[in-house]
Amino acid sequence: MIKAILKNTHNEILDKKFGSRLKELFKIRVLSFDLKIKSLLETESALCTEFSDLLASAEITFNSQKYNLSSLAQFYSSHDRQIRYDARRAQSDFFEKNQTQIDAIFDALVKVRSEKAFILGYDSYIPLAYNLMKRLDYTAVDVDAFRQQIVKHVVPLALKMRQQQAVDLNISELMFWDEPVLDSQESPKPLGDSAFIIDRCSSMYNEFSKETANFFQSSIDRDLFDLDVRQHKVGGGYCISLDSYRAPFIFSNFNGTQSDVVVMTHECGHAFQYYMSRNQLINEYLWPTLEACEIHSMSMVFLTFPWMHLFFGKDADRYCQQHLKETIFDLCNICLVDEFQHEIFKNPNCNSADRRAIWKELESKYQPWRNYGDLSNWTVGNYWHVRDHIFLDPFYYIDYGLATVCALQIYEEARTDRNTAIKKYMKLCQLGGSMSFTDLLKAVNLDNPFKNDYLSEFLKNF
Ligand SMILES: [Zn+2]
Repeated sequence: MIKAILKNTHNEILDKKFGSRLKELFKIRVLSFDLKIKSLLETESALCTEFSDLLASAEITFNSQKYNLSSLAQFYSSHDRQIRYDARRAQSDFFEKNQTQIDAIFDALVKVRSEKAFILGYDSYIPLAYNLMKRLDYTAVDVDAFRQQIVKHVVPLALKMRQQQAVDLNISELMFWDEPVLDSQESPKPLGDSAFIIDRCSSMYNEFSKETANFFQSSIDRDLFDLDVRQHKVGGGYCISLDSYRAPFIFSNFNGTQSDVVVMTHECGHAFQYYMSRNQLINEYLWPTLEACEIHSMSMVFLTFPWMHLFFGKDADRYCQQHLKETIFDLCNICLVDEFQHEIFKNPNCNSADRRAIWKELESKYQPWRNYGDLSNWTVGNYWHVRDHIFLDPFYYIDYGLATVCALQIYEEARTDRNTAIKKYMKLCQLGGSMSFTDLLKAVNLDNPFKNDYLSEFLKNF
């Protein structure tokens, strides 16, 4: 159907009604699919399911109780150093036990994705992946330049922060299992379970704005949440849309840590954007590309800082400070994962040992502080096995980095002029997917992360 529309000599009428974006999206879909790759898509999908099932099947006995990977994660930030070490040991043991199967799944995924690209006439999977992500306005060269900015400005700052963290924790060497514990006190924890968090979100969004109040109430009325962790439930947290109902749905695995609140506010950012753009005329414009989507979610986490006392009581300020610190560390991790994926698909014939060597080298570039101690499955270069995006959503990760830089701009503005920042945010949400990433930034007057040194300026105040 899309091919027929693109061939039709009267198709400029679409531009008049919907703008030029729709035809651009159609063109890129034609470039990303052919019936010849149908069986490869089926194989790819089956491999992704095999990987998800393997992780969801995890039954890890820890302190005589059974956990899955999501619920085990609550112990990674334990105040007790031995407990967090033991939990990380249990995580590492699970992945070590399944290393052969995970490597085989990934190897098959690299082969099938590369073959798809070759059949469609691409040199490698990388440009196909960019087209599948609908990235029409930048290329792998721009993304490489962005990562270089992170190496130059963010990695040195993160290294200093990690050194200070060791001093704050009064330990001679900061180990991998210490990283989530950012100061010497107990990590801030939400004061209640999922029902409590929904209740507090309700109060927060009532005060935040009329639009957020209506959005959240409609999600409660239609029960559009699945938040609690359960045995064998697929991991992660995300927001999807039920387009026939024009309704966003939030999925998560709450485990009682501060990440429950991060995930909830983050996913509510996605859901709120969808709610705001639900009246777009065509489904193609309901969601933008993912780097733009992550601005909505990451900004929402920052814009809800003034209400964090509702969730954390006296620890609210510590939660906000810690989230900002985590944002800096995340930028390094995001670029590490992204460069790793570029290297993997530049060299699709690498074996598992080559991939471990690439990961180790990139880890020392982006996380020079990282010390896995005696967790041998990680010291050999396997830690990327825990990053399910690498398996399930290739090339997605950098979107979090690009969006972080934009969300930090909104956060900075909100600190001095909240009204302008909120207006900008609302407009960005309403525009949905009607424009490309860089056009959306222009439309709401945000700096383009590819084209300036915004980050170094921002970090001076950090
Ligand atoms: Zn997100």
